[in-house]
Amino acid sequence: MKQRAVVLMSGGIDSATAAAVARDEGYELHALTFRYGQRHAREVESAKRLAAALDAKQHLIVDLDLRQIGGSALTDQIPVPKGRGLEEIGTGIPVTYVPARNTIFLAYALAWAEVLGSEDIFLGVNALDYSGYPDCRPEYISAFERMANLATKAGVEGRSALTIHTPLIHLTKAQIIQRGVALGVDFALTWSCYDPTPDRQPCRACDSCILRQKGFAEAGFPDPVFS
Ligand SMILES: [Zn+2]
Repeated sequence: MKQRAVVLMSGGIDSATAAAVARDEGYELHALTFRYGQRHAREVESAKRLAAALDAKQHLIVDLDLRQIGGSALTDQIPVPKGRGLEEIGTGIPVTYVPARNTIFLAYALAWAEVLGSEDIFLGVNALDYSGYPDCRPEYISAFERMANLATKAGVEGRSALTIHTPLIHLTKAQIIQRGVALGVDFALTWSCYDPTPDRQPCRACDSCILRQKGFAEAGFPDPVFS
């Protein structure tokens, strides 16, 4: 029987590629997506299509409303920055940072993994290429993993040892795209834009759109969404 993996699936390039890595390593995918009140809830539609395309055994979409907490341009009445240069994007933690988002998401993933009898969580975080998010760093991931093994019945009883897989953490966006293409990811299904237009098109000017365009240009592939 295949080992089960819980795969965090946002609908973007990174989570699609991380899921493809998990599938390539022989895991049975249990995809997990959050409808958290994000400005770009359009990404949840992409996550559904990606989970199906990647043969996920199950796709769980959890509703939680982080707008009640706010504090981010993605969940609050704060404008999404537009047209920033690469140097500016690479400086500091942007207002699109959602407070403690990966900790919240990984807590759900941990709970689901325990119920599924899974010892493996895949997360498409990436510490390079201007991410600037504190909860994408390797030291954060290893601290969460240590905590996870103290936090669960399965861990305490010694029945399982959880591993958080971050196969993209040291890759650039261009390298992630190349890896995804090699693994057969259909990037036409992905969504990156933080601030879609009223007719649900990418804005082409937010940090995420800019980094996506740069990534495809450097990877040497046309972007099936933007072209
Ligand atoms: Zn955008």
